[in-house]
Amino acid sequence: MRTPALPPSRLPTRIASAILLLCCLTACQEEREHSADLFIFGTIAQVKLWGAGDEQANRAFAEVQQMFQGMHRDWHAWQPGLLTDINEAFASGRSIRGDPQIVEMIRRSQDYERRSGGRFNPAIGELVGLWGFHTSEYPIIGPPPSGAEIDALLAHRPSSLDIRIDGLQLSTANPHVQLDFGGIAKGYAVDLAIARLRQLGIDNAIANAGGDLRAMGRHGDRPWRVAVRKPGGGVIGAIEVRGDESLFTSGNYERFRQDARERYPHILDPRTGWPAQGLVSATVIAPEGLAADAAATALIVAGPGDWPAVARDLGLDQVLVIDEAGKVHQTPAMAERVRFTGNVDHVVVPLGAKPVPEPGAE
Ligand code: ADP
Ligand code: MG
Repeated sequence: MRTPALPPSRLPTRIASAILLLCCLTACQEEREHSADLFIFGTIAQVKLWGAGDEQANRAFAEVQQMFQGMHRDWHAWQPGLLTDINEAFASGRSIRGDPQIVEMIRRSQDYERRSGGRFNPAIGELVGLWGFHTSEYPIIGPPPSGAEIDALLAHRPSSLDIRIDGLQLSTANPHVQLDFGGIAKGYAVDLAIARLRQLGIDNAIANAGGDLRAMGRHGDRPWRVAVRKPGGGVIGAIEVRGDESLFTSGNYERFRQDARERYPHILDPRTGWPAQGLVSATVIAPEGLAADAAATALIVAGPGDWPAVARDLGLDQVLVIDEAGKVHQTPAMAERVRFTGNVDHVVVPLGAKPVPEPGAE
């Protein structure tokens, strides 16, 4: 059957509605989520996009996966790559050329080391190695290093502030400065991933590596919703992400050394050389992943007494920590946001008013 020809007067209306329908189809097609599991530093990051086209999403996932691979190679603390080359150069007193990302991590680390009173210190690679934490296999079974071995390393006072940056050229007069970016690498990785997605024209995305994440935009007509991890697995609550921000949790419960008597977790107090004690986890919300990651590590080291003061000095307002009894302590700004799952023993603590004690003064 032949379709009767349209009267000329109705043609423009038909074309207009056809275009409208096409636009709606395209829009409807984009009103959905794309998701991929990408490898990052030996674990998996789930990257989700909202509102991207299929081709755009595939290209974005491929690029971000490639970026993560490059970071794994270049930032590894013990497998040969750019960072181990830098550490070798430092150990033998040579100067060496870094790359813009490593230089940025050093610069930012110097700031966090200074502002956290030395609690965050990525130059303690020798100490981390002495404890056996340069491994992917946990738990490590065996006794801790001796007090004498630890003290011998501490005597060299490795600090990221000992590193001289001249353009991309790096050097230090302290051969015991050995970089280990375990405390910030994931944070900076998700910062760079989100920045790349934005460059690719994506406005709504989340990069979530097992609860450590950075997000931007929204999930359609609602915000991105994320879980807050708790020690030993599971979640203690949920948070709705407000636009572009990051949430990181450092835990003193997953990676550790163990002997017949005790557990020795992998976050070390650079001032004593021993594992940080008193807090089992610290969760921080901050705009940047690097900031949230570095801060979460510093707060575990700060411990139950000092975390509010250290949080204030790091410019944080949204912090939640869990002590060894399982009790949650959180700042007022964090308390407004967390929706606990079930009954959680918790208390709201104002940010510290007293100055952070100087290293060695405790
Ligand atoms: P996680 O996310 O695994 O809980 P963190 O972000 O707290 O870990 O980083 C812990 C890692 O950082 C350690 O495995 C080690 O490589 C390094 N590290 C340990 N102690 C410190 C510290 N005081 N400052 C900076 N980096 C540290
Ligand atoms: Mg960290």
